[in-house]
Amino acid sequence: MNFELTEDQNAYREAAEEFAAKEMAPHAAEWDAEQIFPKDVLRAAGELGFCGLYSPEKAGGLGLSRLDSSIVFEALCTKGDTSTSAFLTIHNMATWMATAFGQDEMVEEWGEKLTSGQALASYCLTESGAGSDASSLKTTARKDGDHYILNGGKQFSSGAGDTEALVVMARTGEDGPRGITCFLVPGDTDGVSYGKKEEKMGWNSQPTRAITFEDAKIPATYRIGEEGEGFKFAMMGLDGGRINIGVCSVGTAQAAMETTRDYLHERKQFGQAIADFQATQFKFADMATELTAARQMIRLAASKLDNKAPEATSFCAMAKRFATDACFNVVNDALQLHGGYGYIKEYPLERMVRDLRVHQILEGTNEIMRMIIARRLLADGALEQIK
Ligand SMILES: Cc1cc2nc3c(=O)[nH]c(=O)nc-3n(C[C@H](O)[C@H](O)[C@H](O)COP(=O)(O)OP(=O)(O)OC[C@H]3O[C@@H](n4cnc5c(N)ncnc54)[C@H](O)[C@@H]3O)c2cc1C
Repeated sequence: MNFELTEDQNAYREAAEEFAAKEMAPHAAEWDAEQIFPKDVLRAAGELGFCGLYSPEKAGGLGLSRLDSSIVFEALCTKGDTSTSAFLTIHNMATWMATAFGQDEMVEEWGEKLTSGQALASYCLTESGAGSDASSLKTTARKDGDHYILNGGKQFSSGAGDTEALVVMARTGEDGPRGITCFLVPGDTDGVSYGKKEEKMGWNSQPTRAITFEDAKIPATYRIGEEGEGFKFAMMGLDGGRINIGVCSVGTAQAAMETTRDYLHERKQFGQAIADFQATQFKFADMATELTAARQMIRLAASKLDNKAPEATSFCAMAKRFATDACFNVVNDALQLHGGYGYIKEYPLERMVRDLRVHQILEGTNEIMRMIIARRLLADGALEQIK
């Protein structure tokens, strides 16, 4: 077993760090304060391949592993901006679903636009009445000759209203998960309308909106996979999505620790650097330990997903639960170690805390992660698979 990054992985990390430091970091505070969605920067990330990191090469993606991709996302958060990088992970998830399982005709039309970032994508599963219980969703898609007609609504869709493509889960059949089908819906389709931009605690560089579908008509070739496979694809998307969101927490916590290390040496109270107090040192040591454990769990889960391990879904849920909780505590402790300065916007800590809070809620809340883990690992023989 080798825990070291390969030469290629180090190269991906360096490329992402360089891009993030130049294109994201100088603007992150302004994007947050002014609620600016930096589509031009996302498109520039696409030129480096970051919009289709693990999408198939036949659709213009880089075809990287989940582990390699996680290293890129981590670096973008450490050196750049959490909220914008987190949107990029959602775009990558939706793009992978569309390009890996879409029909040839649709992939030919949309694949390269999505993987290059010329078109951005939203992932649309949650509804007002179907959050954690996502398979109870009510949006319908009715087959009408060569088309499907969508009616219903989605809640909390990241990017929606500013993205060119919506990857939508809608009901084509029976109640429950087996009646759900996945579609690519162009964002400007007649009959698709958007709610107001939600006012949020964090994630301010990306819009979040509700979507309404009123007789929105799309070609049948825009169905992704077969009827009834949509919920399976949505959950497969989320296995990787959970690694991505978890690693955004890890990358941000790394940045918070680096900033804190410098501050602890600089700031003097009672005639000495606050780094010299043992209480401060013990907190810092615990933060570094939690961060390292979170990073290793994410990399392990990514490797399990890459290797199609039987309990990959459990590993992804455990990693998301642990990394988002642990790293939220790390950035919150980093803020505390900055005293009053941590609470003001001149320092990045308060934005990090606000941005990381939602990682414990979305792509399945951390309570739902526990449900997934327990349900799977209580089954006969499953626990033996995580050794
Ligand atoms: C900023 C933001 C961006 C988002 N982006 C997207 C997106 O791009 N696409 C998308 O589809 N969705 C998105 N979401 C939606 C997100 O995934 C949901 O908010 C989340 O899954 C929880 O659903 P809910 O809000 O309806 O909460 P609920 O499901 O109503 O849950 C409320 C509380 O009850 C708990 N709970 C529910 N059921 C159980 C249970 N069985 N056992 C124990 N506790 C339970 C939950 O953990 C939570 O604490 C986004 C949300 C936010 C805030």
